Amino acid sequence: MSETSDRKKIVIIGAGWAGLGATYHLAKQGYDVTLLEAAPYPGGLVAGFKSEKGRSVEGGIHGFWYPYRNIFSLVKELNLDPFTRFTRSSQYSPAGLEVESPIFQNEPLLPTPLGTFIYTRFQRLPLVDRLSALPLLYALIDFDNSEAAWQRYDKITARELFKQYGVSARLYRDAFEPMLLVGLFAPGEQCSAAATLGMLYYFILAHQPDFDVVWCRGTVGEKIFQPWVKRIEELGGKVLTNKRVSDLILDEDGRVKSVVCGDELFAADAVISGVSVSGIKKIVANSQTLNDYAEFRNLTNLGGIDVLASRLWFDRKVNIPLPSNACFGFDPTTGWTFFDLNDLHDEYKDEPGSVIEVDFYHANQLLPMSDEQIVAKIHRDLGICVPQFRQAKIVDRSIIRVKQGVTHFAPGSYQYLLSAKTSIDNLFMCGDWIVTHHGSWSQEKAYVTGLEAANLAIEKFGIGQKARIVPVEPDEPHIQVGREINRTVRSIAESVLPDFWLP
Ligand SMILES: Cc1cc2nc3c(=O)[nH]c(=O)nc-3n(C[C@H](O)[C@H](O)[C@H](O)COP(=O)(O)OP(=O)(O)OC[C@H]3O[C@@H](n4cnc5c(N)ncnc54)[C@H](O)[C@@H]3O)c2cc1C
Repeated sequence: MSETSDRKKIVIIGAGWAGLGATYHLAKQGYDVTLLEAAPYPGGLVAGFKSEKGRSVEGGIHGFWYPYRNIFSLVKELNLDPFTRFTRSSQYSPAGLEVESPIFQNEPLLPTPLGTFIYTRFQRLPLVDRLSALPLLYALIDFDNSEAAWQRYDKITARELFKQYGVSARLYRDAFEPMLLVGLFAPGEQCSAAATLGMLYYFILAHQPDFDVVWCRGTVGEKIFQPWVKRIEELGGKVLTNKRVSDLILDEDGRVKSVVCGDELFAADAVISGVSVSGIKKIVANSQTLNDYAEFRNLTNLGGIDVLASRLWFDRKVNIPLPSNACFGFDPTTGWTFFDLNDLHDEYKDEPGSVIEVDFYHANQLLPMSDEQIVAKIHRDLGICVPQFRQAKIVDRSIIRVKQGVTHFAPGSYQYLLSAKTSIDNLFMCGDWIVTHHGSWSQEKAYVTGLEAANLAIEKFGIGQKARIVPVEPDEPHIQVGREINRTVRSIAESVLPDFWLP
C-alpha cells in the first residue's frame, strides 16, 4: 500500500479510547485514516485540558484496574510511563470511615472470592451482613457473559437480583449500591442485573488482584493521549478536532461513501463510529440515512447519565489518609469519589495547599446548582469524611458538568445496544457501550472494541495484520468447574422442561 491513491480510506468518528484505538491500529497497518472529533481536543470523556489559570483539569479522574491488560500493553508499546504505583482506597459514609482496601496482589493469594471478603477491612459492617452475599455466588457462576446469560439477567434490576439472592438490606446499602454508583454510575434499581454481574466480576471478583488500581500521574490527556496522537500522526494518520459529524452518505448499494461534517465531505471506503450513546443518538436524529434502519432508530431507547467533575485548590495541606476514596449515603441515588492529587499528580506534588478532585456520578440533581452551591456542598461533605477540611479554605476551583456523558446500562437496554457489525456493510461500531464478549469494562472495553472494529475493517479489505487483543485472564479452576456443571444442568433442564416461563 505504498501509493497514497491505492490506500483504503477509513474515517473514524470520535477520539475517545475506542476511536483512537481503531485509528492507531489501522494507521500502523498503512490505511489512510482520518479521525474526526467534535471537541477541541482528543480524549473523549478522558480528555484533559488547562483551566483559565493554566492548571490541569479533566472531566473526572480515571483509574486503570489490574485487568486492563490491553491498555497496559499499549502504554508499553508507546514507551510511556504514565502511571502511579498501585494505591489503596477508603470508603466513607456520613458516619465516617467505613472500609479500607489493601493492595490485594500483596496479600497471600486465595481462591476467589475469598481474598476479597477476608482482606477488605470493613469498619462497621457486621459479619452476618457480609455473609449474606454468599448465595449471590451462584448468580456470578451462572452469568458467564454469554449471549444467553445477558438475555437471562438484563431485564431485571440489580436491586431485584440482590433481593432474590437474600442479600441483607445493610450490605446492599453500604457495599453493593455504592459499588454500582461508581461502577455503572446509577443506583441499583436503575441498573441491569446482567451489567451488574459483569462489572462486579471483572473489577472485583474474577481474581484477587482485580480491584487493584493505578492512576495517571497527570491528566490522561497529557500522559497518554497527547503522545499517542503524535504517534498516530507520525504514522500518517490525521486527527482532526472541532469536526462534528452530522450524517453519513450511502451509495446505491447501501454502503457508506462519505461522512458529512458541517460543509465538508470526507470520502470513505469504510467508517468506524466511536461516539457515545448520546453522540450517536444526535447523529441519527439528524441523519437522512441512518434513520432508515431500525437498529439506529431503536437507539432512542438508550440513555446517558449525568456526571459532575470538580477540582478544588485549598489554602493548606489537609492530611488525607489514602489517595483514593469513594463515598456513599450523602445523597440518595448519587455516589461520589475524592482523590488527593498532591499524592497522585506530579504537577501538584509541591503545591502549598491540597488539590482535591471530587467527582459525582448520577449527578442529575446537582447539575442545576450554581458553582458556589456545588463548592459549598463539596466542602461540607469533605469535612464530614476528613474533619481537617473544615478549617481549610478553597482558593480556586474547576467545575465540569457532563450531561448524559456516560452509558446507562439500564434494565432491558441490552437488546438495543449495537454490535461492532451493523446492517451497513462498511460501517463498524466501537465504544464502551458496544456489545463484545471480551469481558472488559469502561476504558479497557472502549479500547478493546476499537481494536475489534479495526480488525473487522482489516477482515473486510484483506489488507494488514489484525490487532492482537489480550483476552481477560481465564476463570480460576473452581469457577470453570462450577460454570461447566451449571451449563450441563441447565441444558438438561432445558431439554426436559417446556419453554413456557420467562427467562
Ligand atoms: C467522571 C467519570 C469517571 C470515570 N471513571 C472511570 C475510571 O476510573 N476508569 C475507567 O476505566 N473508566 C472510567 N470512566 C468511564 C470512561 O471514561 C469511559 O468508559 C470511556 O472513556 C469511554 O470511551 P469511548 O471511546 O467509548 O467514548 P467517549 O470517551 O465518550 O468518546 C466519544 C467521542 O466521540 C466524540 N463525538 C460525539 N459525537 C460526535 C460527532 N457527532 N462527531 C464527532 N465526534 C463526536 C465525543 O466528543 C468524544 O470525544 C469514567 C467516566 C466519567 C465520566
